[in-house]
Amino acid sequence: MSEKVGHFESIHMSDEKIKQEVAQYAKILDRKGLVNSLEGNISIYNREKDLLYITPTSTRKEFLTPDDIAVMRGDKQVDGNKRRSSEYLLHRVALEARPECNAVVHLHAPFLTAYAYCNKSIDIKCSTTFSILHDGIPCIPYGLPGSMDITNGLADALKKHDMVLLANHGLVCVATTLEHACAVVEATEEVMKIYYLAKDMGISNISDSDLDALKQAKR
Ligand SMILES: [Zn+2]
Repeated sequence: MSEKVGHFESIHMSDEKIKQEVAQYAKILDRKGLVNSLEGNISIYNREKDLLYITPTSTRKEFLTPDDIAVMRGDKQVDGNKRRSSEYLLHRVALEARPECNAVVHLHAPFLTAYAYCNKSIDIKCSTTFSILHDGIPCIPYGLPGSMDITNGLADALKKHDMVLLANHGLVCVATTLEHACAVVEATEEVMKIYYLAKDMGISNISDSDLDALKQAKR
């Protein structure tokens, strides 16, 4: 999914504006129950300056201020009142895999993460939203959180998919902008919630020809 306008906007945003945006979206996700104090982190990458702006560890997102956002260059934190999330490695690997993307969202959104707990990829054919946004969502094998183990297989999976499940853990979603990354996760989580309600009622799939038409319309 490309959003060229947002892409260029985020490259030229000031440091302060980027910190504000990261804090603002973290609060939005907190209000929606998609992150909590101990789970979930989001980032924006300024490629021109090689600076990653990421939510800090163990902090209630609702209370975040722009000054709390951790600013990283490589493995080193260069700014921010609070310590960076230990999961910044996921963000770094994701951003290396997708050079056109400047935002990463890592969440344990319940209806999506349920599949990760079962080590199951998602490929449903009953939702127009899902079919427009995804060519399936793969699940990569378990890796130890906070270590490079957790990134095994992530780069390869992200080359074909904007969203990837991490077995027994959560999900990673990349996009050109943080708005778009959050929007895709929010919409997909809603789809999986509805799927959970509908699956015992006798789901009716979209036909292959109609699915093809949806994919064409997306291009
Ligand atoms: Zn996590």
